[in-house]
Parts: sequence; C-alpha cells; structure tokens
Amino acid sequence: MPWRNATPQAAVQHTPQGFLKTVKSEPIQSTLGMVSQRAREHMVTRLQAAGIQSETVLNAMRTVPRHAFLDTALASRAYDEATLPIGFKQTISAPIVVARMLEIACGASQTVGAWLEIGTGCGYQAAVMSRCSLQVCSVERIEGLAQLARQQLTAQSLHNITLLHGDGLQSWRSQYASSHARPAYERFDAIVVAAAGLGIAQVWLDQLAIGGRLVAPVQGDDGVQRLHVVRRLSETQFDRHTFEPMQFVPLLSGTN
Ligand code: SAH
Repeated sequence: MPWRNATPQAAVQHTPQGFLKTVKSEPIQSTLGMVSQRAREHMVTRLQAAGIQSETVLNAMRTVPRHAFLDTALASRAYDEATLPIGFKQTISAPIVVARMLEIACGASQTVGAWLEIGTGCGYQAAVMSRCSLQVCSVERIEGLAQLARQQLTAQSLHNITLLHGDGLQSWRSQYASSHARPAYERFDAIVVAAAGLGIAQVWLDQLAIGGRLVAPVQGDDGVQRLHVVRRLSETQFDRHTFEPMQFVPLLSGTN
C-alpha cells in the first residue's frame, strides 16, 4: 500500500494564473496515522459499549493498525463495525467479533502463553493476538493470503508470530515437521478458529493444553453459526459452552 512508505515531499501546485508554486505537503503517513489512531480510539470505545471488558484485548486493538491489513481502497472503512473483503473470496472479521473471540480465549489471563489461530486471513487477528500472548502460531489454507499476511506482519516487526500455509484441520506439529515452520508446539493455551465448521474437530481438542480454551464458530442443524467454547479440565475432561450467533466464512479442509 503506497502510503506506508510515503515520506514528506514538496508538491508542485498550479496557481490560477498558471504559474507553478512549490507547497510543502504534510507527511501522508503521519496524517493517516493520526486519523487512524483516533479511529481506533473510537472503535475501542464502541467495543467497550458493546460489553468488551478485557483490558488486554482492548489495549491490543488500540495499537494494531487495522487499516494496514486492508486494500488501500478500503482503508477508510477499516475501523467501521464491518466485515470487509481481503481477496480470495475471504473477509476480515468485524472488530467486535475479533474482540469477543479473543476476550473469551484469554479468560482471566493477562497474557496467553502459546496461541493457535486457524485461519490467518489477512493477519489482523494474529497481530492483535501477538500483543496478548507470548507466541502466536497461525495457519492459513490459502497460499496467497498466507503470503500477504506474512508480508504485512513482517513489515510491522511482529516477531512472536509463526505463520504456516497449511490445513488447520491437521495438527500444527505434523505440518511443522514437513514445513519446518517453528515452533513445533504440540499443545496451546488458547486456540481460536476464524472460520465456521460443522463441529469441533478432535485435532483441536488434542492440541489444547490443560486449562486452555478453544473458541470456534460452529454451524448448527438450524444453519445458524454460534460461538462454542471448550475448556480442557484434564487429559480426558472438557467443559463446553455455547455463546451468541455470529457469521463466519466456512472452514474448509485441504490447502489452496
Ligand atoms: N483472522 C482473520 C479472518 C480470516 S477469515 C483475519 O483477521 O483476517 C477465515 C480464514 O480461515 C480464511 O482466510 C480462510 O481461508 C481460512 N480457513 C478456512 N478453513 C481453513 C482451514 N481448514 N485451515 C486454515 N485456514 C482455513
């Protein structure tokens, strides 16, 4: 996106008389930065009004530049309460959806240890998660999106995120072994699924650490997608709750 590397420049303007005059322009990047900082503050106020209480999540969303993950043409709508296209027929989740999922996944913790995201998309949610956890592992099945997310997250110098082009319906570790993406976690303190399936996959439960939480949208027999939250109590015991309806893109198996 062109503005990101924009530097202050002297612009040339035509006067009504046809003479040229040199005008010192505002640095484009810092102007947009200020606008988006204000827009982020508004977004956070709206999230609080909608019931989001986790300071960890709100602080993370206050700092991550959501507009940077979107096409330039959509940047002005980045902080609206909206789902927006990110290419490849996929969408970035609305801010309230990101906040709600991460708040539930965090629970009472200030910082999650290792976090797994299924469905990197443009990388925005992974960036927010990286500010609430020590390590984020995120897997995306569409190669083009995985590449875009990698570029953006690298540009933002977020070093505690490992991205993998792969299938979130297989274990992170098994795909790590074939791709050498690090780290090779076997279990995660929180797992967030960003696409709706028809149930909770066993492979997600297997990768959940004891005390960890899985948050995933599941489409019921009535066709409605609802957030499901599973907490691992012991090696064999899981506690499951269903939360409010939400709309997600479908979870698909295999890679593209
Ligand atoms: N968290 C993302 C939301 C992306 S939408 C963001 O902040 O932008 C959900 C993503 O899940 C899509 O990019 C889709 O390609 C991906 N997805 C769907 N099924 C998947 C699977 N089995 N494994 C990995 N990614 C999957």
